[in-house]
Amino acid sequence: MRFHKAESAFFVFIALVFSAGVLLFFAYGIMRTNAIKLATVGGAADLSDFARLLFTTGVLLTTAIIFGLFFIYPLIRTQVREEGKLRAMTESLSARSESLQHAALTDSLTGTQNRRFFDDALREYLQEFGRIEKPVGLMVLDLDHFKQVNDTHGHDVGDEVLRRVSSCLKDLTRYHDVVARLGGEEFAIVAPNMNQDALVKLAERIRKAISALTVDAGTMRLRITTSVGLAVWDGKETVDEFYRRADKMLYQAKRLGRNRVCA
Ligand code: GH3
Ligand code: MG
Ligand code: MG
Repeated sequence: MRFHKAESAFFVFIALVFSAGVLLFFAYGIMRTNAIKLATVGGAADLSDFARLLFTTGVLLTTAIIFGLFFIYPLIRTQVREEGKLRAMTESLSARSESLQHAALTDSLTGTQNRRFFDDALREYLQEFGRIEKPVGLMVLDLDHFKQVNDTHGHDVGDEVLRRVSSCLKDLTRYHDVVARLGGEEFAIVAPNMNQDALVKLAERIRKAISALTVDAGTMRLRITTSVGLAVWDGKETVDEFYRRADKMLYQAKRLGRNRVCA
């Protein structure tokens, strides 16, 4: 059986407390022997306070061990188990994208996941994370005035922009986040185990990185921006309700003037 780092640290801690208890026991023994010796040579020493102190310390150490083993250790175990489940789940999701279904679940233009993978992944993440009561973040992105890019510079330049944006999204996300192109110039990111603050920070980082991209378009260098809507799952919404809430935020970002994040 392999132990997690936190468990090993806990056992070391318990071993130290236990050793302190054993030493205390010996100290008590030495004290008693000396008291008896002293009494036999006619001396007298009142060691009852000292004995009481040692006894109380012993009780405290025993309580610490019992508390540790029956309260702290189960908490550590639960945490470790959850972590393991999380890892297994994200591994199975990424293993899936490498399986036979790879082509069916990948967007051929950008290499990101496609809508089908996104729908499955989002449903699965909500199910699993609902069970372990961890947050799931969702980000919906739509490039600003992208039609103009196509109309002015042509479809090939538009495609290149989509590829550059995709690789930027992949660079800025963690390996178990799902980055998908939902269609056209709309992307989504599922970010498990991320609360609202962290999600807003990530969205801002992505928004800035995209606005800093430059794409060669003939004689000029082209810049683009994106609007982002985001939401953290409330634990009760259906997949559709959750997606619609993030999408509403995207719509608001567009309405407020684009190139911004709305949460
Ligand atoms: P907004 O800021 O409101 O999002 O404006 P927009 O121009 O980005 O939005 P709109 O939905 O009007 O335009 C989306 C454009 O995306 C239309 C189409 O020319 C372009 N598009 C969709 N799919 C592709 C694709 O696969 N490749 C390229 N190059 N362009 C695409
Ligand atoms: Mg757009
Ligand atoms: Mg669009």
